[in-house]
Amino acid sequence: MNLILMGPPGAGKGTQARRIAEKYKIPQLSTGDMLRAAVAAGSDVGLKAKAAMESGSLVTDDVVVGIISDRIKEKDCAKGFILDGFPRTVAQAEALDGMLSKESLKINHVIDVAADDEALVTRITGRMTCSKCGEGFHKEYKKPKKKNKCDLCGGKLTTRADDNEETVRNRLKVYHEQTAPVIGFYQEKGSFKEVDGMQAMDDVFGSLCAILG
Ligand code: ADP
Ligand code: ZN
Repeated sequence: MNLILMGPPGAGKGTQARRIAEKYKIPQLSTGDMLRAAVAAGSDVGLKAKAAMESGSLVTDDVVVGIISDRIKEKDCAKGFILDGFPRTVAQAEALDGMLSKESLKINHVIDVAADDEALVTRITGRMTCSKCGEGFHKEYKKPKKKNKCDLCGGKLTTRADDNEETVRNRLKVYHEQTAPVIGFYQEKGSFKEVDGMQAMDDVFGSLCAILG
């Protein structure tokens, strides 16, 4: 099963992708996570991506397309994969089409986790992530039992550098201008579905599983 999970920043696609990965035993390929790792490592890709990520703009298509085309050729993707945060432009969607047909692969589901902008700003500016296991928390909606510590593993909770209000507003603007058109691209292909990302997290997961079977 090859799946694309779409949605605006903060819609919860990362959290849902993690849960789907666990349930269906396929890897979550998050371009955001891969780029953050590249920035932290100071690699060539990281150097190219850093400024765009800090301002909430998109990293160039050639950089992310390069990352994904290498990644989907790895062994663990043979049984399927979840694309989380990619494609984010129509050009990326077209490039993905090209690389998949070369490998005789196809996308089975494209699902958009929809949510409205004001809720997204509140969600993102309060969120924290465990630096060890990746579990997400929120300073109002999902408080950790101990301050700045992960309930699951005790790891330190971190806030992303781009999760401040100014950058979030830019990420939303970029989403509407450059990523929302990708929905039309997949609607035309007939593989597109939407779930309501304003539901409680477990209900979003339920809606996704109902589609995936
Ligand atoms: P978000 O919560 O905004 O969905 P992500 O973790 O997916 O965050 O991505 C964080 C940042 O990484 C984006 O704002 C962008 O700069 C960069 N990025 C991630 N995926 C892509 C992509 N497919 N194309 C271009 N830039 C990307
Ligand atoms: Zn943890």
